[in-house]
Amino acid sequence: MSLHNQKVKIIAVGRNYAEHARELGNEIPTEPVLFMKPSTALVLNNEPFTYPKFSTDVHFEVELVLRVSRVGKDIPVESASEYYDAITVGIDFTARDVQSKLKAKGLPWEISKAFDQSAPLGQWVELPSARPIHFSLNQNGEIKQQGTTDEMLNGFDAIIHYASKYFTLEIGDLIYTGTPAGVGPVQRGDLLEAYLGDDKVLSCPVI
Ligand code: ZN
Repeated sequence: MSLHNQKVKIIAVGRNYAEHARELGNEIPTEPVLFMKPSTALVLNNEPFTYPKFSTDVHFEVELVLRVSRVGKDIPVESASEYYDAITVGIDFTARDVQSKLKAKGLPWEISKAFDQSAPLGQWVELPSARPIHFSLNQNGEIKQQGTTDEMLNGFDAIIHYASKYFTLEIGDLIYTGTPAGVGPVQRGDLLEAYLGDDKVLSCPVI
């Protein structure tokens, strides 16, 4: 396993697409639901994802990812767009069996989301000015998830504004902005491929 020494934090948004919240039987939140992953969650350069020993129900969640380009705290929503400069697609791997048990007990579900290698990251692309931004995920060549920025309950700027109330954003930090409907299990031997528009920005073999 390769180690990623980047001292970045990953801020992720849960339940940011209404259809996905519904498919998991969750309420649609009124404020962004945030959680974090450590830098050891990153998988870069299309390296494989190693299926973890502690789960038998790991799900893919494809998400748009922003790269923070300025240090900021308490960022007003009006200037939030000045704090990120690139976009890609990433996967928020989730040990759904572990998460469900913890949720049922009302406990934090950190370990089901923040474990090593739970955050494959695609190649950076300059932020397009046109909206909406489309993205999608294929599993073994079959389309499983697709989404657009139009469907987000909290847009990029609202997320930056909200997250920066609690966490100082630092250069290189990553924002995983939530997954659309269609999440599902992966198996060893799968190939996940993620697209930003028509461009493939991430390949993730599961081993
Ligand atoms: Zn997610």
